[in-house]
Amino acid sequence: MRINFRLQMQCLALAGIAVLAGCGGSDGSSSLTSKSGQAPAAAPAASEVALAPPAAPVVADTSINKTVPPVELPDTVTPVNYKLWFRPNPALSSFDGRADVQIKVQKAVNAITIAGHRVKFTNGTITLQPGNIPLIATPQDDGDFYQLRPVSGQIAAGNYSLHMEWSGIINFKTYDDPVAKTGGSCGDDPYPGCSAAEGVFRVDLKSTDGTTSGAILTQGESNLARQWFPGWDEPAFRPTYEVSAEVPQNWNVVSNAAEKPAVNVDSGYKLVSFEKTPPMPSYLLFFGGGQFDILEDDFSSPLPDGKGLHLRIFTPPGMRDWAKPAMQQTKQALDYYYRYTGIPLPLTKFDTVAANDAFKEQKDLNFGGMENWGAILEFADDILPAPGTTMSDYGVTVLTHEAAHQWFGDLVTLDWWDDVWLNESFATFFENKTKVRFFPDRFSWVDDVKNKYAVINADLKSTAFPVQPNFNGWASNDFVLSASAFTYDKGGHVLKMLENYLGEEVMRKGLQSYLADYSFGNVTPKRLWDELAKASGQPMVAIGDSFVRQTGVPLISLDTQCDLTTNQTVVTLKQSPFPNQNQYPGTQWTIPLTLAYGDGLTSRKTLAMKDTQTQVRLNGCSAVLADPSGLDYYVTNYSNNAWSQLLAQGNALKDPVLLTSLQLEAKLLVNNGLADPSRVTSIGSLSPAATPLARQLLMTAPTTQSQRPTIRYQGKFKVKPQAQQGQ
Ligand SMILES: [Zn+2]
Repeated sequence: MRINFRLQMQCLALAGIAVLAGCGGSDGSSSLTSKSGQAPAAAPAASEVALAPPAAPVVADTSINKTVPPVELPDTVTPVNYKLWFRPNPALSSFDGRADVQIKVQKAVNAITIAGHRVKFTNGTITLQPGNIPLIATPQDDGDFYQLRPVSGQIAAGNYSLHMEWSGIINFKTYDDPVAKTGGSCGDDPYPGCSAAEGVFRVDLKSTDGTTSGAILTQGESNLARQWFPGWDEPAFRPTYEVSAEVPQNWNVVSNAAEKPAVNVDSGYKLVSFEKTPPMPSYLLFFGGGQFDILEDDFSSPLPDGKGLHLRIFTPPGMRDWAKPAMQQTKQALDYYYRYTGIPLPLTKFDTVAANDAFKEQKDLNFGGMENWGAILEFADDILPAPGTTMSDYGVTVLTHEAAHQWFGDLVTLDWWDDVWLNESFATFFENKTKVRFFPDRFSWVDDVKNKYAVINADLKSTAFPVQPNFNGWASNDFVLSASAFTYDKGGHVLKMLENYLGEEVMRKGLQSYLADYSFGNVTPKRLWDELAKASGQPMVAIGDSFVRQTGVPLISLDTQCDLTTNQTVVTLKQSPFPNQNQYPGTQWTIPLTLAYGDGLTSRKTLAMKDTQTQVRLNGCSAVLADPSGLDYYVTNYSNNAWSQLLAQGNALKDPVLLTSLQLEAKLLVNNGLADPSRVTSIGSLSPAATPLARQLLMTAPTTQSQRPTIRYQGKFKVKPQAQQGQ
């Protein structure tokens, strides 16, 4: 999922600090870079992309356990295959649903517990086969769960088919006060995340000739699929799905798997059905139907097997040709991710739905895109530039972000929602990589450095959250939204730091085995760190945990002495938490440190600094620079001696990315009374080697105001007993 107002939330958290590079307008479209109307840089053709696919197939370790236990639902009953049917009413306000679910009952149970919200079971329709056992549905926990219980006795262990029939609501956002946007189906909650995009929801597609037509879409993340169909909507469950629906005959429809031939039924309706999906969590299941136009193309795999994908983009009527830039970008992104991962998507087609909504003349989501596997949902406002215009920066971002999720999130899936960073930090990390490659005028690492310091400032406040907070038993989209500066941005910066430390190829190798080993399974932070450790031999569990489980940022003190007898530079390094207002401050980190030294600072030394103090000896007597890329997530305070030596190497500091980092680092230190103000002026006197692209940094004040309810914090190193087991 790509949140469209995360920058506002971030700016809110950062209000008052100097670095506001990323603060944009209401839909996030004014992102980090300019909206100068420049055409995107001519993207290289696939054959010109330097990234080579792996020479040999990426092989999975088949002995690995890919599963995790569920958190809120019992692990005694597992869904295997889900045959789902539904039919919306003509007014698109409600629907009838039906399912036959192949389930495995692991041991005798008194009841089958399933998730369901705002669904109404049809009396007498819940049965279990074989045996034709009727089940009674009893609501639990404010109607979020149901127990399906036989009239008497237990349900014995074994394989069954569970039949259910129900009716549900098609959500549609309304306001009593359209100016204040309060009341109606949103209540009086002014939170910008109030959206109809839950379960099954309606939009009014607006065509280029101004006519409108009702359409339905679905949204499952995080626990919203339970409004569409009762079942097992936790990421630990990966059944297959066979979706079917009865919809108006003039609709085009899309779901995760390929469509089978439709059959006309009654009164202008047709039965549409889709092939079986790969095993996947329910939050990625999708259905869209309406009077969409469709742009089609094909993607050729750059991998040796050559198996490509049929591509389609669904647009509001009349906008088919508007989707050509998005189609081109989709092909670029897929090509990049195929080459990077070496793993083809286990799909036969790949669709993107670009909807709009005439009801409020704005999109009706609290996010910009959703990574439904093989059927991404995005919005026309973002990704369908009108003829003669170019795609917005946000459109570029959201397209590459959701494409990255097809591997990071969909092929391998987080174990539980407090690890949503395993989806979102990777999507952020990769959206940057692909933007730099294909849209160099839309993104730069200079802006990324500014974003890093904005995040560091947020990470020092009392409102900071760990990237990985270790919440138990509470699935909430609210966390995904409210802590996005950390789950998206800080996590992305930490991943970039790990790549700087390990090297791009080692990082890639570790991520390839991570994806292969846990394909169609669940991942945990430990599973990620173990894969990176396997590829690198580095203490990645200690490094990773210390950055994602703690708030704040490490402050490194760096001093240098020349040992004339050995002709070595003795570097004394100390770490402490940067002064902060954190509620649960971090104490000590294992820091993946990179030092630059020698003539022109061209030599490198890396170390995993785990102690509060350590010494390093470097050959030759020279200045020493920490974080030579400028993109690592720690702050370095140089002794006066080390700083003077560094300034004497001024020409080696003029890379615009590094220089920006050093300038913002100096400002942060001075603002916190940790360095003399001359630190800022001395580094500020250096000018970058190449003038960065002119950027219009929008400083619009954030208009969003509220955070979601207080998150229950359960301690810095509390182990989540269910999902952290085993691997
Ligand atoms: Zn996302």
